[in-house]
Amino acid sequence: MIVKSRVESLELQILRMLNARMTLSSKEYSNYQYLEKGYEGEVIFDRWMEEVEKGYLVVNDLLLEYGNTKFQIDSLFISKIIHLFEVKYFEGDYFIEGDRWYTNNGVEIKNPLQQMERAESLLRRMVRDLGFNINIESTLVFVNPNFYLYQAPRNLPIVFPNQIPRLLKNLQKQTAPIKNTHNNLAERLLTLHSQDSPYKRLPEYSFESLKKGMACSHCHTVNTIVTRKTLICISCGKRENIHEAVLRSVRELQLLFPGEVLTLSKIHEWSKSIKTKKAIRNILLDDFTLSGCGRGAHYTIKENKEGYLIIE
Ligand SMILES: [Zn+2]
Repeated sequence: MIVKSRVESLELQILRMLNARMTLSSKEYSNYQYLEKGYEGEVIFDRWMEEVEKGYLVVNDLLLEYGNTKFQIDSLFISKIIHLFEVKYFEGDYFIEGDRWYTNNGVEIKNPLQQMERAESLLRRMVRDLGFNINIESTLVFVNPNFYLYQAPRNLPIVFPNQIPRLLKNLQKQTAPIKNTHNNLAERLLTLHSQDSPYKRLPEYSFESLKKGMACSHCHTVNTIVTRKTLICISCGKRENIHEAVLRSVRELQLLFPGEVLTLSKIHEWSKSIKTKKAIRNILLDDFTLSGCGRGAHYTIKENKEGYLIIE
């Protein structure tokens, strides 16, 4: 059973928007690609794990802190023992020399095993401090079939893509009835999960400097055109109801400029291809409550009153 599902991190969502609307430096771009690939790998992993998730409490994407040290966990499968999974979507050839990991052309990378062991050790102490006595076993899972690791000792807790079916079989064998202890532990971990704020590490940008237009929900480019009821992507052909596309644009603005007041003019300028402010107003009125009038008018989203505040 999935207790906490995986969503794209805020940092990935924002970098994706920025990548479509500005030129990222090569460092920023490679960070963006790293996050994009990482997420892709996790999605592949989740798909594999669908077969066995019923027998476990599954908690994905945890950001925890123990003794002032933050650590991140890709996936926890809780049953009579806790399985911690670190998922990597590495592509190409890598090799190991002692504790060091290198890409095929000799560039050293962070040792993913050490990263996982560190998380395991912090989690072990945390779980013990919370009063639970459950063993933890960690596995580093590589999900990209185009990955090869040379000189890997045999006894490492690593699962390569072609070994995933075997991992699933083992997990299936190990399931045990979920007890209250397991539920309690999953709940405690969820309450300790913290949201990471990416804003300090993002590239610099401003409303004025970003490319305007409505982004495609599929390929994220702003290479789109608007017909009366549909947003059409020229790059990938995806069509989206204009109503949903405008709401997505509002959410984009909110994520890119948190804390700033949204105005209709801003949304209009941002959406660019929607001809009039009036058209945007009509779309918003379906999902937002309008209060006040003239310059003091503002829209609040109907379901979640704290969600949006837009001023005329
Ligand atoms: Zn597209």
